[in-house]
Amino acid sequence: MDSMLEKLMEDFIRHISEIFFADVGGYALDSHHGFVIQYGFNRDIELGLHVDDSEVTLNVCLGKQFSGGELYFRGVRCDKHMSAEALPEEIFEYSHIPGHAIIHRGRHRRGARATTAAQRINLLLWCRSSVFRELSKHPKDFVRWCGECQREMRERVNQAVTAKKRYRFLFIFSSIPF
Ligand SMILES: [Zn+2]
Repeated sequence: MDSMLEKLMEDFIRHISEIFFADVGGYALDSHHGFVIQYGFNRDIELGLHVDDSEVTLNVCLGKQFSGGELYFRGVRCDKHMSAEALPEEIFEYSHIPGHAIIHRGRHRRGARATTAAQRINLLLWCRSSVFRELSKHPKDFVRWCGECQREMRERVNQAVTAKKRYRFLFIFSSIPF
């Protein structure tokens, strides 16, 4: 299936990634790792909170009939902020539907709830970008795709604005002739 998955990445995922995930490799996805996981009786039951070794992940539900197995998402994080708490707007769940797929950043923290009946089979395709990985070797203060970096950046901007207002107030106050 290697050449089929390569083509899927090149002809399909790259184009979506260019629009939605430009900050983690975008069109520059250039290698992949595909595998199938099965959940249910005598198989894996659930999966704890984790991220993938990928820039972009395609997750296709191949079937069959099952109960449970929902994915729960907890925000995208860089290495530095892997254990930072999720913000309320980052918390959501997704229920698999056979024949449907989702695509998300590999660094999107998530887990899978227990598949409680029958069997669930998913195809995972991890897509990677050597360009993005090379660029990531030069760390920045904040990365655009990490929710916690963005929160810290907003906090720093707010502090700067507050400090500026305080400075302006002092300046006006000191300008009043007594
Ligand atoms: Zn971060």
